[in-house]
Amino acid sequence: MLFVQKFGGSSVGDPERIKRVAERVWRTRQTGKEVVVVVSAMGDTTDDLIALAGEISGEPAAREMDQLLSTGEQVSSALLALALQRLGAEAVSLTGQQAGIFTDGAYGKAAISRIDPVRLREEIAGGKIPVVAGFQGVGPGGDITTLGRGGSDTTAVAVAAGLGADCCEIYTDVDGVYTADPRLVPEASKIPVISYDEMLELASLGAVVLHPRSVELAKMFGVQLIVRSSFNDNPGTIVKGDGGMEKAYMVSGVAHDLNVAKVGLFDVMDQPGIAHRLFAALAAEKVNVDMIIQGATRDGRNDIAFTVSRDDLKKALAVAEGVKETIGAKGYTYDDQVGKVSIVGAGMITRPGVAAAMFEALSTAGVNIEMISTSEIKISCIIKETEVARAVKALHDKFGLAELSDT
Ligand code: ADP
Ligand code: ASP
Ligand code: MG
Repeated sequence: MLFVQKFGGSSVGDPERIKRVAERVWRTRQTGKEVVVVVSAMGDTTDDLIALAGEISGEPAAREMDQLLSTGEQVSSALLALALQRLGAEAVSLTGQQAGIFTDGAYGKAAISRIDPVRLREEIAGGKIPVVAGFQGVGPGGDITTLGRGGSDTTAVAVAAGLGADCCEIYTDVDGVYTADPRLVPEASKIPVISYDEMLELASLGAVVLHPRSVELAKMFGVQLIVRSSFNDNPGTIVKGDGGMEKAYMVSGVAHDLNVAKVGLFDVMDQPGIAHRLFAALAAEKVNVDMIIQGATRDGRNDIAFTVSRDDLKKALAVAEGVKETIGAKGYTYDDQVGKVSIVGAGMITRPGVAAAMFEALSTAGVNIEMISTSEIKISCIIKETEVARAVKALHDKFGLAELSDT
């Protein structure tokens, strides 16, 4: 049996916690299982490094940011290897590159392109516990590249897939995936089993407990994930092919995302090719557009609004300024004080009235909806940032999610 165990930032937040993690890993090893460990940077290290760079440069180069940020995970992997050695275990820390993790080279948001687990296999065969620095890999040009915030989860799943591990355990500061962020909704219920598809929606819509790309990879390679707490032994949440929740519940969770900004262009010409010009220009600048709304036509004119992540707002506004004339827009506006609330559930495909119930709950809570988007298993609304917490609670209540674990 081979287990990959990933420990997040708060789980390795200080030396005492690192020692406790080492004890957990060593216990697993002593039951006869092979273990590969993946770690995040200690506590708020990544945020601190970003702030540090900000004191030096207003617009730090992406390459240097990756050199800098990757050090956080290297520190924690070396310290955890030391803690394991102190317990009598044979352990070896490895950078992403040493662990054979190759990426597409996109600084700050690299995707893992392949894993070459030769070194990992050698270390395991030699009786060692490899401790891999998460969140990083090497690009085609030989530079260190990071995988985007929260990316250590993705390292763990990629390593599990590359080694054909039996299970990938994600240890964090909550004991599973809940029906909403327990920090916002203390009465949220733990979901015992969830499907890859539902988890992918929740993660993509803002549930940071798992990095969306990690769920995608897990689904692609059939890696079974378990989300558990590193502070207790409670059973966690299993993420796998066919979640037990499917069809049983109309809605299985509420997610929220504050990393959202809205851009609107007014009085755009109502002609073929206009949307293409605008969104091709955004794509050329590598701006990832999320929701899009085009209003009803009046007098041969339309309004188009779209959302992007806040980090991309500057680029999106530059594009709006650039294409304004060619699409005949009379002007544009933006709002970076918005957020997105979403409900997710595989069961909603077959049940009418879910959208109506969502809008009713928001209206009763006095929350104004600015944009709406739907797919087969989710409905999302853009609302004011200050109303997000209230909206999440109202939706959690409306769909009876606090009682989920008792039913
Ligand atoms: P780590 O450092 O271990 O990777 P993260 O902070 O990235 O931890 O993820 C854990 C956090 O995710 C929790 O503390 C919780 O506040 C947040 N979270 C958001 N949505 C959910 C959810 N639906 N279920 C559980 N946790 C959630
Ligand atoms: N340390 C990185 C971050 O804070 C990666 C991770 O924790 O998964 O985003
Ligand atoms: Mg995380």
